[in-house]
Amino acid sequence: MTTRTRADLDSIPAYVPGKNFPGAIKLASNETTPSPLPGVQEAIAAAVITANRYPDNGSTALIDALAQHLGVPREHIATGCGSVSLCQELVQATCHDGDEVVFAWRSFEAYPVVTRVAGAVPVQVPLTANYGHDLDAMVAAITERTRLVFVCNPNNPTGRSLGRDELERFLDAVPDRVVVALDEAYFEYNRSDADGITLLEGRPNVVVLRTFSKAYGLAGIRVGYAVADPALITALGKVHIPFSVSALAQTAAIASLEARDELLHRTDGVIAERERMRDSLIAAGYDVPQSAANFVYLPLEDRSAAFGMASAEAGVLVRPYGEDGVRITVGDPHENDAFLTFATDAETVAVAGVRRTA
Ligand SMILES: *Cc1c(COP(=O)(O)O)cnc(C)c1O
Repeated sequence: MTTRTRADLDSIPAYVPGKNFPGAIKLASNETTPSPLPGVQEAIAAAVITANRYPDNGSTALIDALAQHLGVPREHIATGCGSVSLCQELVQATCHDGDEVVFAWRSFEAYPVVTRVAGAVPVQVPLTANYGHDLDAMVAAITERTRLVFVCNPNNPTGRSLGRDELERFLDAVPDRVVVALDEAYFEYNRSDADGITLLEGRPNVVVLRTFSKAYGLAGIRVGYAVADPALITALGKVHIPFSVSALAQTAAIASLEARDELLHRTDGVIAERERMRDSLIAAGYDVPQSAANFVYLPLEDRSAAFGMASAEAGVLVRPYGEDGVRITVGDPHENDAFLTFATDAETVAVAGVRRTA
């Protein structure tokens, strides 16, 4: 950095996207494998014709479609350039310099980045021994300075999900001056009873974040949404970068909502593959937490980096996280097979330091 920019930027880690290189199998970014449906591609192509015009900054048609689909009034919905930008807007809308943002760790890599970029202070609460949120410890971490709490459910990268009862107890324990963001990026893969939107009634401090990037398959188009009390939605609007949800994104999202039965049906196949991968990895001796998302997690601790490197050399890109673990996205069956062939090989099992217990 130079003296022209903030000195503290030097200490903020850059967001690390999943690796990609030609020819490799990419199981590193929790994407879906199929292209957008033909009807969605056609809608995007049609929107290109008016790309000389600014998009609708209020995402009117998309918000109408979401309101109908979710059964909530339109004043309760905001859109964003991916839900990661809604995470950033939430920090900006709630925090002054030095205010605190509480979240579990390990969790979504963007939380510490958006927190620190806004001048707020991340308060990271370690996961439980079985890689889920320690909700009691998160309540205990709330101070006078806490303005925002992120709860990633299911948790990226560990996959663990919270049940409705424990979430409800948690929300009741958080002071209502603190905003709680329920980040449900993987909601469509979660077969538990926890649907954040049903918890919003009577809780004006809670906001649910969802995205079209994961199950809806539009990661490259950048659109997500927030559902909350209108006062919070208005606040998000104040910090929103104008026109950051493009016309192509709005159009693609509407077309994908219309095709949701077909798109969401695919999640059943992903879940079946996820369980197949997990069973096979467990049989090879790995510890694999139950996942409610489109990935599995191997808590390999200090072997994580070596495992990630060896997997890349075997032609499968996965995502290592420091000395915590490795996340593997569920891809197509042949891609998952390529990963399993690598991961269950005797040499890999030795590198990973796991041993068959059964
Ligand atoms: C992928 C992801 C998001 C959002 O992704 P966008 O592409 O920005 O919508 C948000 N939260 C978590 C936990 C994610 O894994």
